[in-house]
Amino acid sequence: MKLHDTSLFKQQAYVNGEWVSADKTLPVHNPATGNVIAYIPMLGASDIRTAIKAAESAFHDWRAKTAAERSTLLRQWYRLILDNQDDLATLMTTEQGKPLRESKAEVGYGASFIEWYAEEAKRAYGDLIPATRSSQRIMVTREPVGVVAAITPWNFPNAMIARKVAPALAAGCTIIIKPSELTPLSAFAMAELAERAGIPAGVINIVTGDAKEIGAELTSSTIIRKLSFTGSTAVGKLLMKQCADSVKKVSLELGGNAPFIVFDDANVEQAIQGAIASKYRNSGQTCVCMNRLFVQEGIYDEFVEKFAEAVSKLTVGPGLDGDFNQGPLINEAALLKTKSMVDDALAKKGRLLTGGRPHSLGGLFYEPTVLANAAMDMKCYQEEIFGPVAPVFRFHHEDDVITMANDTRYGLAAYFYANDLSRVFRVTESLEYGMVAVNEGVLSTEVAPFGGIKESGIGREGSKYGLDEYLEMKYVLLGGI
Ligand code: ADP
Repeated sequence: MKLHDTSLFKQQAYVNGEWVSADKTLPVHNPATGNVIAYIPMLGASDIRTAIKAAESAFHDWRAKTAAERSTLLRQWYRLILDNQDDLATLMTTEQGKPLRESKAEVGYGASFIEWYAEEAKRAYGDLIPATRSSQRIMVTREPVGVVAAITPWNFPNAMIARKVAPALAAGCTIIIKPSELTPLSAFAMAELAERAGIPAGVINIVTGDAKEIGAELTSSTIIRKLSFTGSTAVGKLLMKQCADSVKKVSLELGGNAPFIVFDDANVEQAIQGAIASKYRNSGQTCVCMNRLFVQEGIYDEFVEKFAEAVSKLTVGPGLDGDFNQGPLINEAALLKTKSMVDDALAKKGRLLTGGRPHSLGGLFYEPTVLANAAMDMKCYQEEIFGPVAPVFRFHHEDDVITMANDTRYGLAAYFYANDLSRVFRVTESLEYGMVAVNEGVLSTEVAPFGGIKESGIGREGSKYGLDEYLEMKYVLLGGI
């Protein structure tokens, strides 16, 4: 791993403005090679309590700053992240595996949230409400919720942190982040840049160690007033239960089972490009990745043939060694899950059009795969694949595909391609999802509210709405006027 600025490579946790080690450590691997690239501290429960206390003490001064002061610091952090985009991307590809081009794009995407919330910090407006008595006035102000805990996943090691830290800090909250133990280096490097930007000690803290133990400390603490989590639905539910005892505010970004529907009147070429972008980005390991591809009967055969041909041309390799379309999967469990999804589909009469096997490169690489004749009894119909596999289902009528698209406990992102205007409105309104993309395969942006319904989560990240997650309303009644 070659960095221009080697001091961005940190192997210590960051608590109260100090870099902290521990006797026990945990190795971090490069998924493209299997090599150990770093050892990170396994902090104990008392270290986590120290971090919570640090965030609590920093909160008083941080919230007392003007929004403009917080905004300036966020903006400095944003600039430093962009100035170091190449190094941050190299670190990310080394620990996560995604192609360097995708890592660079993610660093830019993460930074866009910091810039956005540097601006939104100044817009935490309140309200004046006409009172019911002439001697009274009613005011609503908005205050930071307090100390926040964030638990983030490995699939977007930078952006999932930026999406939480930026609105939290903008609102006046301080934060303790537990990044995924698989991708902590991006988190440490972001903390180093936050320190250089002048963000005071204790405002951002990064802790690593045993996930369960840290989760238990963070959720049981009465100092922490909010948990923001991105990860699997199973862990999200567990953390939500753990937060119930202290009635914490929660934001959860959980799993998805995104339908991607191509109607007869769609532009097939554009739909193919959209489906590839939606499915194979990050080797299929994003919560908004298309999980089920539904294609209408009239264009099914043409679509699957062209789609499979385009997918067969995607290149696979280590992200640091060349400009490949796809890197490795994150770990052995991800590889086994992908294999089992494909085996299950093939056992149930799925037809393999391309891919379908671990890649000849070995290790954690898997071939970009397309399966035709997908059916509702296959695992991939209900479960999130989280790998580079596209099952293609055939449908006849609009009503049928809406029923199938909504036939899931998830409700994060949905995509469809169509040109008939009334159909576009009908389908958009019928889809039970927090986000719907029409004639587009990628929908995340800092200016729009990202989030799901049903078992995909609670709350929104990004946009003007994202700041609300870190603010509480205070109603003030002024009498005797
Ligand atoms: P994935 O299956 O995509 O790895 P997880 O939900 O397991 O998703 O992981 C997301 C984040 O949640 C990671 O930071 C992980 O360490 C953390 N995590 C996993 N289990 C727990 C737990 N029991 N308590 C708190 N955090 C957890």
